[in-house]
Amino acid sequence: MFADSPKKSCLTNSQLLVVTSLFFTVVVNFPFLKAVFLATTPSTLHEWLFFFSVPIFLCALLIVFFTLSGALFFTKAVLAIHILVSSFLLYGTLVYGVLFDTSMIQNVVETDSGEALSYLNVSLLVFFVGLGLLPVLALFSQQIKGAFTTNLKSLLKINLLAILAIALIAAFLYKDYAAVGRNNKTLIKYVLPLAFYDSGYKFLRDNYLYPPLPYRILDSNPSIDEPALVAPKTLVVVVGETARADKFSLNGYARNTNPRLEALDVISFRDVTSCGTATAISVPCMFSNLSREKYNNRVAASQDNVLDIIHRAGYHVEWIDNNSSCKGVCKRIPNVPHDPSRDPQYCDGRYCQDEILLKQLATALAKESNRENRLIVLHTIGSHGPTYFKRYPQAYREFLPDCPRSDIQNCDLMQLTNTYDNTIFYTDFILAGIIRLLKDIPESSMLYISDHGESLGEKGLYLHGFPYHIAPEEQKMVPMIYWSRALTDSRYRQCVSALSNNAFSHDNLYDTLLGLASVNSTTYQQELDIFSTCQ
Ligand SMILES: [Zn+2]
Repeated sequence: MFADSPKKSCLTNSQLLVVTSLFFTVVVNFPFLKAVFLATTPSTLHEWLFFFSVPIFLCALLIVFFTLSGALFFTKAVLAIHILVSSFLLYGTLVYGVLFDTSMIQNVVETDSGEALSYLNVSLLVFFVGLGLLPVLALFSQQIKGAFTTNLKSLLKINLLAILAIALIAAFLYKDYAAVGRNNKTLIKYVLPLAFYDSGYKFLRDNYLYPPLPYRILDSNPSIDEPALVAPKTLVVVVGETARADKFSLNGYARNTNPRLEALDVISFRDVTSCGTATAISVPCMFSNLSREKYNNRVAASQDNVLDIIHRAGYHVEWIDNNSSCKGVCKRIPNVPHDPSRDPQYCDGRYCQDEILLKQLATALAKESNRENRLIVLHTIGSHGPTYFKRYPQAYREFLPDCPRSDIQNCDLMQLTNTYDNTIFYTDFILAGIIRLLKDIPESSMLYISDHGESLGEKGLYLHGFPYHIAPEEQKMVPMIYWSRALTDSRYRQCVSALSNNAFSHDNLYDTLLGLASVNSTTYQQELDIFSTCQ
């Protein structure tokens, strides 16, 4: 008997649909159910009733959604696609604590291949096989029982039952759902794969379906305030990547991560918050004159940013990129795009270490004569994860043992901390190198500010990109460091130093850069210019 080939088990289409929806409810949406439990902490009978209605509601909703998305006719193929997509989403949520809202989708879409490949590791593979491929194989090993029309009828019946369940729950528990939803707006972002599809649709709609907004010139006639200038200015803005304020010894971190900067005359601002928790939001936002509250990617992309204004006023403005891209900020100014193979000494074909920027800055400073006002932006790769260990060369492995792998959740906390701290130690070297290049140039200054922070296992979160209003401090508090030849003037230095504990944010960058550049513009808001009281 046992010698017979194993029988394929037989299920009807609607049974397959129900089993898959149950799998999605219990396994794929485990983080969602856990979040609901933590948000509601049920204790009374009514609260428990609500809590147990959630998986039933979700399962019924998934049945209807899967059917509408094509499972009515192509049951296996459509369910397989949802399973494969969700295995990646669940990995992100479980391992890194990622939620898939529109800013995260934008972050994913704007990720280049080098960045995407840095997430490939054994953990992801095991996860993909276990919760993606194996369920799909199990799905395809089922033989569909019954004739096509019988199956179609039973699928419709199952959907009617699901709709009935949704209606019943809505009728009896509507108030509870409304209250819990209102008080916990992010809960909905845990529902997989629905939250992902919803955000994906909104992202596509906003970026590709809506016609682009007409371009808005915010100030057609900005000018350089010549009497304010002693000699042409050289401003270098360094955009940091994934650097956390609390990891800088300049800000009180117990480890000496900033030995070089501490020996220089720099001022570190200790209370600075980012505009977003991801590069795709923070970088365009910090250069835009929209505040964080009013920030919108589509609006920001279709109007002048501060670099456009300073450029129009007559500065030589240049963007040099060692990240993925300038996220549209440098579209209208001269720029040197990210090229991962530009120099074998610093680049591996996917990434270059930030030291390449020192070389490129030296070239740019030599090329442009000192007689022209100039603003050069250096976009660093900084502390970009999860492959932190690739951000710094051997000579900067200051804190050991480090964690030379991308599945960082499998490194112990000490290794992870060491690796991340090495990236800051290396950033310290880069910033000190920039100041060294500037120190003999009159009227030169450098302003370094990171785009967002990073979670390193605190509260079970890793990386960044968490929805802003519930993101932890670690993802929002960024370092900002200022150096200027003008700081040799003790009165100016004292004045700026006195501001270093004040609360600032990316909202201040637009006007602060106009102020530093002595550019007159109708868009300038003096109260946002950090240094306006010290000129
Ligand atoms: Zn970033």
